[in-house]
Order: sequence, then structure tokens, then C-alpha cells
Amino acid sequence: MQENVNPEEIAKFEALASRWWDPHSEFKPLHDINPLRANWIDRLSPVAETRLLDVGCGGGLLAEAMCHRGAQVTGIDMGETPLEIARLHALEHALDIDYRRATAEALAAEQPGQFDIVCCLEMLEHVPDPAAVVAACTQLVKPGGHLYFSTINRNPKAFLFAIVGAEHILRLLPRGTHQYADFIRPSELGTWIRHAGADVRDVTGMLYNPLAKTYRLSDRDISVNYLLHATRPEALS
Ligand code: SAH
Repeated sequence: MQENVNPEEIAKFEALASRWWDPHSEFKPLHDINPLRANWIDRLSPVAETRLLDVGCGGGLLAEAMCHRGAQVTGIDMGETPLEIARLHALEHALDIDYRRATAEALAAEQPGQFDIVCCLEMLEHVPDPAAVVAACTQLVKPGGHLYFSTINRNPKAFLFAIVGAEHILRLLPRGTHQYADFIRPSELGTWIRHAGADVRDVTGMLYNPLAKTYRLSDRDISVNYLLHATRPEALS
């Protein structure tokens, strides 16, 4: 079976991976949003003592934040270099995180229903078939468990902010990081989630203020970057 992976996208992240933990590098936006999203997830579903899976974990920013909060974390990615960076960083900080090279689909076949929480952040827009990743994440989470996704909305404002603004004017991200056609509307993501058998609970925007150079969450503006929370229904008894 053809893997649901775009090798060009993986290569982009492998080329940059050595700078993953440098908060002034291409990964600055991820560093800046990390406390916001980690707190949001921990507030909606306290992560301490849970088994948490981070799909497309990259260098491990979210995985470590969740480990610090007491979760037992598994991180998967298809990039070898990001995983090496993640393993090294966890080792240096004496954090016990299980990093593996795998797709969500492959892990779902091996460990269905094994995780209390599954996160897949800033990854769906880099994958050929994002609906299949959503379905795999839903299989990976336990009945009654929590799912978190984040990506970029698709509309003219998102094009202006996420591509023209972030890549060309403010140069927060390298040019070519994102393709407009791969952006995902919340309604599309919601449809894939429902087809996978889960329920959308909450959608919240992540807004960037270019003057203050800060991010904040907003439950009113999901026009560019957004986070989505879903749950898998409890098994029928
Ligand atoms: N989720 C992390 C990293 C986002 S960058 C964070 O938000 O901090 C996107 C990551 O997805 C990269 O590390 C890339 O290698 C990974 N990726 C892309 N396609 C993938 C796939 N099909 N399966 C697993 N990981 C993938």
C-alpha cells in the first residue's frame, strides 16, 4: 500500500531540523504557540497520568510540554532527522518519551484504541490525504478519549496572512513552507472527524499580532490558524 506521505514535505522538515529547538529559528512560530496550545489541551483534558500520542511530532515541542505535565508520551513522525533531534533533546533533559518513525495509519493498525489523547498539530496541511490521518487518529484514541488537531483555514485572508504575511513580508517561515491548496477549512476537518466516528467539541483560533509579535487564542476568530478538539464516543455497553 502506498504510504500517505509527501516525501518533498518530509525533506523540507529534515533540512531544517537541526534548528528545531532554537527559538529564534524557522521554528519560532511553533515555540511561540506551544505554551498556548499545551495549556489549552491540558485544560480541556488534564494530561497527567494519560497515554498521549503526538502524530507528526517533529523535534518534540508539544511532546515535551505534555511530558512535563505528567503524560506518558509517544511521538511519531516520518522525518528521520526531526526524530533524532527529538530523541537527543529528551535525553539531554532526562525526559522519557517514546519516539518512533511511523505513520498514524501504521500505528493505528498496530495499537488501535491505546491512547487517552491523540494530538496532530500543524501536520495535516503537509499530507496527501489528511482525511485518512484523521481516521487513523480516531482509531488510535480510546473510546471516550480526546483528539486535537490544528491547521490553517483556506480563504483569502488565510492566504494573505499565512503565506504573503508570514512567508514573504514578516519572513516568520521559509518561502514555500505552506501551499494554499493544502489548507483545510474547519467545516472540512469537521466532516472528516464525523465520518471517522468522532464528535467535534470546540474550535478556537490562534491569532498573531505582528506589532506585539505575540500569539493569543480567540474563540471568535478562526479565519487563519485554528485548533480543534474532538472526542471519540464511549463504547456502547
Ligand atoms: N506537530 C509538530 C511539528 C509540526 S511540523 C508541532 O506542531 O510542533 C510537521 C511535521 O509533520 C514534520 O515534522 C513532518 O516531518 C511531519 N510529517 C509530515 N507528513 C507526515 C506523515 N505523513 N506522517 C508523520 N509525520 C509527518
